[in-house]
Amino acid sequence: MATAICKRCRAQAEPTRLETAAGKSDSISVTLRGMPVLACPNGHRQFLKQDFALKLVEHLVKEDEAGLPAGKEKGLIFTHYHCGDCGAELGKNAERRETFPLEVSLPEFGTFRVELTAPLYRCPKCSREQLHSLEEVRKATPPALAEAFRAADIPPG
Ligand SMILES: [Zn+2]
Ligand SMILES: [Zn+2]
Repeated sequence: MATAICKRCRAQAEPTRLETAAGKSDSISVTLRGMPVLACPNGHRQFLKQDFALKLVEHLVKEDEAGLPAGKEKGLIFTHYHCGDCGAELGKNAERRETFPLEVSLPEFGTFRVELTAPLYRCPKCSREQLHSLEEVRKATPPALAEAFRAADIPPG
């Protein structure tokens, strides 16, 4: 990855990795571990490229989160959730929270870990533990990431 100019102080920015940064939205939290960024000697951070955040969100939502155990969302006005396996209705109260470590591989930017923590619900019929729905997780992912970027002082774009 080539070096670049820091957008804030014009010093030379070099590729490095962010130790951790966390953010949350609703009941979903994300922790970024080892995410590649550019940093200048004055401690300013920026994305490797303009479209990094977009690529990360797209990859997470379309590929990494797709493999999580999840129920199905039903109902237009009053949303309720059903077991992804047997279809029984899931309760409103989560059994516990679980952290899923996702190894995110972005073609242009390499691999790093995103930990997603979300409430898990146990199906009353078949006992499968699952998230309420992927829609719910997908909706919360971009704002949770935005908060993590703000926490790490990475300006958007
Ligand atoms: Zn700088
Ligand atoms: Zn079930």
